[in-house]
Amino acid sequence: MNTRLRDFVTAFADMLEQHQDEPHILEHGAQLLQNLVTHDDWLPEDYARPDPLRYQQYLLHADSLRRFSVVSFVWGPGQHTPIHNHTVWGMIGMLRGAETAQSYTWQDGALQEHGKPLQLQPGMVEAVSPRIGDVHKVSNAFTDRVSISIHVYGANIGEVQRSVFSEDGIRKDFISGYVNTTLPNIWNFSADTATP
Ligand code: FE
Repeated sequence: MNTRLRDFVTAFADMLEQHQDEPHILEHGAQLLQNLVTHDDWLPEDYARPDPLRYQQYLLHADSLRRFSVVSFVWGPGQHTPIHNHTVWGMIGMLRGAETAQSYTWQDGALQEHGKPLQLQPGMVEAVSPRIGDVHKVSNAFTDRVSISIHVYGANIGEVQRSVFSEDGIRKDFISGYVNTTLPNIWNFSADTATP
């Protein structure tokens, strides 16, 4: 079952050896991610578990060169993110259920909804980045069941300093981390000066 994830990670790393420019990464990466989320038989249950209070981000793979990371996003019924950015390229592949993504753009210092909300169905892939549009809000399309999407980012996303925004555009810094941080977090640079 997990050969699918392993094959994806290997193919993605191979692809990054060949392509360093974002348009090509998004084009080829989307095909690989689409292959992965076309089948819903590989995600272990421990990484598919919702939480009643908030959506969950489980790290599935972190590239040792920090070129990319793979995360499962598990939405409980009706859960949604705040408006947020990523600061690096990202791809969202819908695995189970459905989610709704609303893009935002800056206009005169305020955030405006950009276009209609996009509904992602299983097997679909969407991309974000500072180049093509990096601010959005994502919701579980269902109020009565769990939805799951698989995200790939051009960094170890759990360590990236980024922002959430209120509807009126007020910015707040955040670092998402992961919910499955039972392993020592070697990326927590703030702990570097702490006594072991
Ligand atoms: Fe996002």
